[in-house]
Amino acid sequence: MTTSMDLRERVAVVTGAASGIGRAIARRLASAGAKVVGCDFDRVATTEAEDAELGIEMHSCDVRQESDICRVVDAAAQHGSVTILVNNAGIGMVKQIDEVTQDDWDRCLDTNLRGAFFGCKHVIPRMRAAGGGSIVNIASNAGLLPRAHDPVYSISKGALVALTRSLALCHSVDRIRVNSICPGPVGDTRMMNADLDKAEDREASIKQFIAASPLARALERMISPAEVAEAALYLVSDAAAMVTGTHIAIDGGKSLGVPPSPGS
Ligand code: NAD
Repeated sequence: MTTSMDLRERVAVVTGAASGIGRAIARRLASAGAKVVGCDFDRVATTEAEDAELGIEMHSCDVRQESDICRVVDAAAQHGSVTILVNNAGIGMVKQIDEVTQDDWDRCLDTNLRGAFFGCKHVIPRMRAAGGGSIVNIASNAGLLPRAHDPVYSISKGALVALTRSLALCHSVDRIRVNSICPGPVGDTRMMNADLDKAEDREASIKQFIAASPLARALERMISPAEVAEAALYLVSDAAAMVTGTHIAIDGGKSLGVPPSPGS
């Protein structure tokens, strides 16, 4: 018997699948039955061997290069119609405007936005030919509300949410659904660890991330990559057949605004 979250017979491409949220999504979709083709700039041999046990096939790819994305989509199509794409590859950029170089701008926007756009470009014709598909863009709570510490990153993620809505409207006629997930703060990822490694006091920094999100504060922990992966599974599955152009904020309520101070 199949359920609405059964992904057997589906072929999925997941970018940035070597670590963190992307790896959790690749593993969750593979556990639900999908043939997952992952790609990453910076591959990790040890975890890749574990992931291969779930049938996850990894490719080297720089999502900033259209030809790389096209090659990965072509490789995935060897397994059947590609009807799922998760644009997850991304980088952070904690800099104020006066410190931002043109290279910083290009690296951040090219990875977080252009990579996703060209991923969509190369799967949409295949999804159309297959009678439909589902694209999930991993944006951020930074795409929903401005933050004081990372304007370039926030711009990239805000634009990714706009891209989601635009393509959802353009391609509903093709039965292609396009949604985004806006997480934050997610622990146990390379991006988060890189931020924490730069902090003078790692424990204090973890507490600050938790304090900025009402539910993370109440539960006294960060969000896990697996919790974001559950939302991705829902969005790519038939359970979300009527869901398009929207976002799910897996941010413990962070995008609601300033959390109440303790005791108030
Ligand atoms: P991560 O660093 O563990 O994962 C990102 C992956 O993308 C890495 O494996 C990296 O090698 C890969 N990547 C980077 N540039 C690439 C490129 N040019 N081509 C191919 N792969 C590339 O970090 P994460 O936290 O799991 O981030 C995943 C996504 O989630 C990102 O888009 C990030 O912006 C978003 N996000 C993360 C958080 C968080 O708190 N961790 C919050 C909101 C949104």
